[in-house]
Amino acid sequence: MKTYFYTDDSYSFSNGCSCCDDTFIECYNSEDTDYMLGSAHSIEDCWVNAILTELKVMSLDPAEREEYWQYSLDTLKTLAYSLGIDVEIEFQEDVE
Ligand SMILES: [Zn+2]
Repeated sequence: MKTYFYTDDSYSFSNGCSCCDDTFIECYNSEDTDYMLGSAHSIEDCWVNAILTELKVMSLDPAEREEYWQYSLDTLKTLAYSLGIDVEIEFQEDVE
């Protein structure tokens, strides 16, 4: 089983206005995935990026790649396991 490791680089930022809540941006990075894919912005993205990397993403046509973003987390996990890959995300201890 090959594992794709992600670090949780999520962050929040303020728009400078005291009455508005900070905006929280989910962001996960992995050195194991194809750099063309960039950062993942949800847990599902992490799995999609791992799967697309494993399938040699650039050999798939764009329409075929799009499909993966429609899948549920469960479907993605099943697909990943069938490819012999796993995803591990090291979450931040506490996110403000
Ligand atoms: Zn405001």
